[in-house]
Amino acid sequence: MSQNKGKGCFLVSLKITILGSGDSVGTPKWDCHCETCETARKRGIPFSRTRFGILIELLDTNKRILIDTGPDLRSQLLTHNIDRIDAIFFTHGHYDHQSGFADFYRTRIPAVEIFGTEETLNYILSSGGIMKSIRYKNQEILPFHPIEYDGFKFTAFPVLHETSPTKPVGYVIEKPGHDIKLVITGDTGFNIPHKSLEFISNPNPDILIVDCFIDNQEDTIRRFKKFVFDFDFFRSSNHLIFPDILEFIERVKPKETYLIHMSHLCAPHDQLESNLKKYEHIKAAYDGLTMIL
Ligand SMILES: [Zn+2]
Ligand SMILES: [Zn+2]
Ligand SMILES: [Zn+2]
Repeated sequence: MSQNKGKGCFLVSLKITILGSGDSVGTPKWDCHCETCETARKRGIPFSRTRFGILIELLDTNKRILIDTGPDLRSQLLTHNIDRIDAIFFTHGHYDHQSGFADFYRTRIPAVEIFGTEETLNYILSSGGIMKSIRYKNQEILPFHPIEYDGFKFTAFPVLHETSPTKPVGYVIEKPGHDIKLVITGDTGFNIPHKSLEFISNPNPDILIVDCFIDNQEDTIRRFKKFVFDFDFFRSSNHLIFPDILEFIERVKPKETYLIHMSHLCAPHDQLESNLKKYEHIKAAYDGLTMIL
C-alpha cells in the first residue's frame, strides 16, 4: 500500500519503506501465545512484525539507504526485491538494529558506506567474525553535524535509551530548499535532550516515525507492568509508550506520525488501527508500508 502525503507529484523525491515494524524479538514472539502473537501466526503481515528496518530511496538519484540493519534484513530485502544498498545510517548498537549488517558479507557491492557515531561504529565493527570480512567505507558522525548525501541532509540527534551499549541517536532527513523533513527517533524513552527536541520540532516535520513499544490500551499497560521492574524508568529512559507519544507529538507537531518498533504487547494490527482512528494523523506502521515525500 502506498500513501502520498500531499506534496504533489512534482516534488516527490523520497520514498520511505518500512521494512520491519517490530521490536527486538518481533511479533509473533516465538515462545508466546498471546492474542497478538496468535493472530500474527495465523494471518501474517500486517499482523506479524519483523525487526526494525527502514529503507529510504532518494528518487532523484536512485540511491538506497538503510536506517539500521536488523536480524531480519535478508528476508526484508528479498521481500522487496532490493539487490543494491548504497549506504547505512546506524542509530545504536542493539542487536535488533545492527546484527543484519553481517548480510553484507560477500555482496557484489564494492563497499557499502556506513555512517554512525564513532562509538556505535566501533561497537558494530568490533563484534568480530564475519564483520571483519565485509567491505565498507565508514564515516563517523557527530550529533547536530549534518552529512550531505546526494542532495539530502542527514543529521543525527541524541536520544535516550539507557539499555543501549552505545549512545543512541535518531535522524532528521531533509532536502534543503524543498521543504521536506523526515524525523526517525530510533529507540528512545521520553526524556530526550532539550536540544534534540528543539532541533526536530523546528521546523515541524512532515513525517515523524516514532518508537512505540506499547499502545494505548490500559490493559496492555497493566500487562506490561508485570514484566518490568521499574516501569517509570522504562518509559522515561528506554522506549516510548503511547500516552507519552501523544505528549511528544504535542511538542514536535509533525504533520503525520507513524508508530514503529511495536512489541507483541501492542494490540493486533486491526484493533490497533481502530484504536487509533480518533487520532487523525497517527497511524500504526506495518511491514511493507510505503510513504512518499
Ligand atoms: Zn530496538
Ligand atoms: Zn505475545
Ligand atoms: Zn534498542
